[in-house]
Parts: sequence; structure tokens; C-alpha cells
Amino acid sequence: MANHDSNPAAAGGALVGAALSRPLSQVDPEIYETVRLETDKQATKLVMIASENYASEAVLSTCASVMSNKYAEGYPGKRYYGGCEFVDMAETLAIDRAKQLFNVEHANVQPHSGTQANMGVYFAALQPGDTIIGMELPHGGHLSHGHKMSFSGQLFNVVTYGVNKDTELLDYDEMAAQAKEHKPQIIVVGASAYPRTIDFARVRSIADEVGAKVLADIAHWAGLVAAGVYPNPAPHADFVSTTTHKTLRGPRGGLVMCKEEYAKELDRKVFPGIQGGPFMHLIAAKAVCFLEALSDGFKLYAEQIVTNAKALGNAMAERGYRLVSDGTDTHLILVDVGQAGMTGKEGEAWLDTAGVVINKNTIPFDTNSPFVTSGLRIGTPAVTSRGMGEEQMVQIADWIHRVLESKGDEEISKQVRSEVDELCHAYPIYDWRLREMPKLD
Ligand code: PLP
Repeated sequence: MANHDSNPAAAGGALVGAALSRPLSQVDPEIYETVRLETDKQATKLVMIASENYASEAVLSTCASVMSNKYAEGYPGKRYYGGCEFVDMAETLAIDRAKQLFNVEHANVQPHSGTQANMGVYFAALQPGDTIIGMELPHGGHLSHGHKMSFSGQLFNVVTYGVNKDTELLDYDEMAAQAKEHKPQIIVVGASAYPRTIDFARVRSIADEVGAKVLADIAHWAGLVAAGVYPNPAPHADFVSTTTHKTLRGPRGGLVMCKEEYAKELDRKVFPGIQGGPFMHLIAAKAVCFLEALSDGFKLYAEQIVTNAKALGNAMAERGYRLVSDGTDTHLILVDVGQAGMTGKEGEAWLDTAGVVINKNTIPFDTNSPFVTSGLRIGTPAVTSRGMGEEQMVQIADWIHRVLESKGDEEISKQVRSEVDELCHAYPIYDWRLREMPKLD
């Protein structure tokens, strides 16, 4: 039997065998330090970016598993590589659970991201030059819904719809008028910064009048949809796309679902059309996430996300801030800070210093550029994962107000930062506070 002594590479100290087991801190102290700092930040600041969350340790450990080593081009049972028996089991579990979770006929769990999930749909349903209708970016839409800087705006003829100027609610009449005039092949509905529910049945009937297909992109709401606290577009849409890492609280990645009639074409477009080997570690982690999302506990979690966003919104309104669309049905609020005499860019920077991580965001009909903006997008998925409730949301609104009102005053920011730190210690996430990554000398 071979042993290390008889292997010149192993005996000579080459990077083989047991040498591959050295810890990150020894192998690459620089990257270790970035991970340590990010870990500390996520533990001690209030993560309120609406698209972020804390995946469970079960999900994270699957992401970091040996599944990452496996090539598996193709689909379960039909691979271009040998040795796929176990990743087949994982991908089949992910597919079955996604179908159950969203009540869909077909699921493809391979998209590396939300953008690639959408790309798979476009390539399955459209020809270059076809027309798509999507929500305008400043009104809450996403780049992959036809923005000119995205492949989607470059390959297709794009027409947009937005929100009504008075209500700031999706303008279905405008969508219908645009559809009638431009006869799109697909209507894309979904958003990154829209705080309200969408009437998917109405979108379906607008599409039917012009013979268009419907793509519902639920990237932001997937966890809420899974838990039944946001409408499920599946009965009304030809395609449903999503990310898995936002409210759904899974690994970073995409998922795309459709009616059976499009399944073969969609699968062919995801692989080999736009992707190569699937990320089996992330697919396995998606399966774990879907199992978690099927639980009663996840339903309670998702309900609390929305309760918290409403509480935060009310508390901000009580402190004099205007909320876009006058509130929220979801996991996020959009605050019009322009009205309070500052830009989104300033607000984001001031709050970060005070330990509240949010992002600047355009609001509908914003007169500032996307780099400056007049809005702040504030989300509750991550703080809810820590176990925080309405009482903490009122406290957070108070801190946000103190920092913004003082225009980022250094002393006030310092004071708030230390209060935020205390709250984070009271609501620890994972076991990080118990086993912090030690700082290297
Ligand atoms: N669709 C919507 C509505 C999104 O908000 C996002 C991301 O923010 C995406 C798609 C794209 O997801 P990814 O960043 O994984 O490409």
C-alpha cells in the first residue's frame, strides 16, 4: 500500500495530501483577515440591506463542502461526467423541494444568479430583437429587466412601465397601454425596490390581451412567497425566476421555474446555453434552504419580517419621514430622505458610521442620479433572522433618525454605534460572539 514516504511529492513538502488541510489563517493570512473583518462587521452592525440575509450554518457549511469539487455538466441522470451519483441525489432533492415550495410544474436549480435565471428565460422564450416590457429601474425594477447597460437591454427591444406618480403603486394601466402599443413577447414583473404586493392575475390578463408571456421575478420576495405572506405568481406566470439568498435565506444563487411546456427549452438554455458546470455545493445548499423554508418556523420568520418592516415604517413616519407608497406590504421600506433635506448617498454614509448598514436608492421620479439618489432602502430580513421584533424596530428607527437629523454628527454617530453594538450582542447571530475569528499577529 502506498504511503507518503514512497511518494516523492508528499515527502518533499509539495502541496498535496495532508498539506491541503492547512487552515486559511496559515495558507493566506490576507484573505483570512478580510473574512475575519467581514465576520466581525456582520456580527456587530445592523445589516439592513433589503437583499441581504444570514444563511443558516447548515446552508453555509454545505456551501463550504466537498460538493464544490464536483463537475456535473448536464442534469440528474443525464450527465456528461462520471461519478455524479451523489450530486444527482442532491440536485434531485433541490428540484423536488423547489417544486413543492413554490407549487410549480418545473424547476431548474442551476442558475448561478438571479440575472442568469432571467437570462435563461429570455433565451428560452425570445429571439434577439424581440420586445420585452419591464419596470423602470428608478421605479424599482432590476437591471436584468431591460436596462441598457445589461445584456437584456442590448439584445432586446425594451419598453418600460413604472409607478403612478400620485400613489407610487405599479401603474397597471400604463403597463396595459404599453403592451397594446408595443406587442411584447414577454412582460417582466418584479422589482428590487417596490414595497407593495403585485396583482399577478392582472398582469396575466394584460399579457393575454396581446399574446405575451409573463416572467415574474420574485428575487426579493421569494421567502415571503414560500411562506404565503406575499402572493405566489406561479398560477399566473409562464416563468418564475428568483435569487435564493435574499428573503429566502439560502446560498447565493438563482432558481428558475416554469410550466411543463417550457421545461425542456428552459433547461437547454440554462445548460449548455448560458452556463457550464453547475455549482453543486450551492445546489446542495439550495436544497437545504428549501427544506428550511418548507418548515412552520420559516413561515413565522417570514411573517415577522413583514411585521418588522411595517413597525419600522410606522416609526419612521412618526418621526416625520415620507415613505414611498406610504408604507409597505413586504420586507422593505423606501424612505424619501430628499424631503428631509439630504441625499441618499449622505444618509447611507452617515448611517454606516453609526453601525446601520443600508443602501441609498432612487425613488420614483427621482431628480438625483443613481449614485446620489433621494432615497434609502431599508430591509428587515437580516435583523429578523437575529430574532429582533417590533420593539427593536422602533429603537432602530430612533437611531436612524438621530443620525440623519444630526447630519452624521460625529459624537452622535459614536454614541449610536456603541448602542447598536450592545443590541447586536443581545441578539447574536450564529455563535460568532462565542467563537470570533482570532486576529492574527
Ligand atoms: N431580479 C431582481 C428583482 C433583483 O433584485 C436581483 C438582485 O438584486 C436580481 C434579479 C439579480 O440577482 P443577482 O444579483 O443574483 O444576479
